[in-house]
Amino acid sequence: MSKVSIVRCPDYSDTKRALAEALDLLGGLENIIQSGDRVLIKPNILSASPPERAATTHPSVVASMCEFVLQAGGKPIVGDGAGISRPGATAKALKASGIEEAAIRAGAKVVNFETAGFTLVDVPDPLQFQKLYIANPILEADIVISLPKLKTHELTYYTGAVKNFFGVLPLKCRKEIHLLGKRDLFGEAVADIYSIVRPSFAVMDGVIGMEGNGPSHGKPINSGVILASQDCISLDIVAAELIGFDPLKIPTTAGVLKKGFANQCPVIVGTPLKEVKMKFKQSSGGISTAPSFLTRSLGKYFTIYPQINQQKCTHCGACYLNCSPQAVERLEKGGFRINQDKCILCYCCRELCPNNAVEIKKSLLATLLTEKENLFRKT
Ligand code: SF4
Ligand code: SF4
Repeated sequence: MSKVSIVRCPDYSDTKRALAEALDLLGGLENIIQSGDRVLIKPNILSASPPERAATTHPSVVASMCEFVLQAGGKPIVGDGAGISRPGATAKALKASGIEEAAIRAGAKVVNFETAGFTLVDVPDPLQFQKLYIANPILEADIVISLPKLKTHELTYYTGAVKNFFGVLPLKCRKEIHLLGKRDLFGEAVADIYSIVRPSFAVMDGVIGMEGNGPSHGKPINSGVILASQDCISLDIVAAELIGFDPLKIPTTAGVLKKGFANQCPVIVGTPLKEVKMKFKQSSGGISTAPSFLTRSLGKYFTIYPQINQQKCTHCGACYLNCSPQAVERLEKGGFRINQDKCILCYCCRELCPNNAVEIKKSLLATLLTEKENLFRKT
């Protein structure tokens, strides 16, 4: 039986109490952690974003988790790699998110995946990749815990405990995966990562989630919950239900299920799901699943592409450095533009732009057709 605990947590002043309850409902961490275990805690440290933007796991959730790991006899190590390819980006994100300070104060060690080295590892029963480079601190840990934020995502619709492990890859490999260019293939690649990491536990920061254009430019929304489970996939299934999305339409969940993980139905303990259920707004960029016959036959009328708003752009270059197919081009007079012919709609530029300057443009036909694409269940 795969249990998922749900505990109400109205604000971050109540994190420790809510997390203690969520762990108790699952029998505590003592069942998982042996004395002296190196416990790698992987929050979501996407970019240099303060906690109130709700793009990163809140520092109070990280700190409380470190304290509970210490109480269970483990040695907490907090680590991640930011999603932006600029030297020092992870160090900056660790500071801006408040995670580094909170983790150190709680007695944990902090590791930066960007500089801790990677090892090439064989993928068991590969779906997309035979081998992957994985951050060394993940491979050196006895126990790995996922600490995601409850958010929407333009590519995977929802991002949670499984997708969180995308951050264990070096940026070059992340670019290769984005180049797969389709949501289902992306989900399978994340399942390949998951099969190496094999996390033992997950705690989700759903106190303030992010709806709309997540994972970085959505709107913070008070969702008021902490979720926990020994199984990341069960947690993702329950969390997707909680925000009103169909769990089986989430590409990362479909990927891990295809790979044979999670063959048991999640059982909810604590607060009943119906009492905390809500409806998050979907991201506006969700379009790459448009039927191919339409894009072929009505191609010139069915257009969707990201465009740089030159008024908002500060020429930081993050989109240019992180675009896998090099669709972002430098303009002679300064600044950048997106070459639509090369763009694969991975949304990395939107995710990483610090100024929300990358906007989605849709033709009328695309707007009409993609509005019908819907993650919500018909009830
Ligand atoms: S321009 Fe943006 S959406 Fe298009 S491929 Fe590059 S990073 Fe992805
Ligand atoms: S669009 Fe955004 S990420 Fe790209 S250069 Fe401008 S400010 Fe930077």
